[in-house]
Amino acid sequence: MDYPEPIAQLIESYMKLPGIGAKTATRLAFYTIDMDGDDVTGFAKSLISAKRDLHFCSICGNITEEDPCAICSDKSRDQSTILVVEEPKDIMSMESMREYHGLYHVLHGVLSPIEGKGPEDINITSLVKRLQEHDEVKEVIVATNATPEGEATAMYLSRLIKPAGIKVTRLAHGLSVGSDIDYADEVTLLKAVEGRTEM
Ligand SMILES: [Zn+2]
Repeated sequence: MDYPEPIAQLIESYMKLPGIGAKTATRLAFYTIDMDGDDVTGFAKSLISAKRDLHFCSICGNITEEDPCAICSDKSRDQSTILVVEEPKDIMSMESMREYHGLYHVLHGVLSPIEGKGPEDINITSLVKRLQEHDEVKEVIVATNATPEGEATAMYLSRLIKPAGIKVTRLAHGLSVGSDIDYADEVTLLKAVEGRTEM
């Protein structure tokens, strides 16, 4: 027996999410049908609004309702330091630490020869442009994850940026190899920033 069309469609939609296979998608679909009507409406509305009202900041690539984002617009922040992260959610982790007051740049990925991802596939060109246009930037802190791809990306950025006379540093490896910065606790993250080393 086939599922009624609306359920089949819902299952298909859930399967578009990362890490969700047919079995989980089916379970979620049936769970959704059992949910309170208002909750389902709220859920659907938040999906639509997240997609419609959020954009990437044209300067740093962060997720924002306003462009430029609140961090790029805040002139009281230290304009001489840019911390480079892989994903917007990494900015949330850094901000929760409350110790970093510089600017950010989001790569939206890392270099990955296996996945065929080169420098042109991540947000590097805009970083270079930013550095060329704002000579007040004195340090770029590369906070990509301690994965092989994250390390390779850090090396690439270092070679690209250092010739311009800008200091390039890497977070200290208080973060264990292979760990994501969004899973690091605030103390570990703070130590990693304080103990950063020049590349
Ligand atoms: Zn921004």
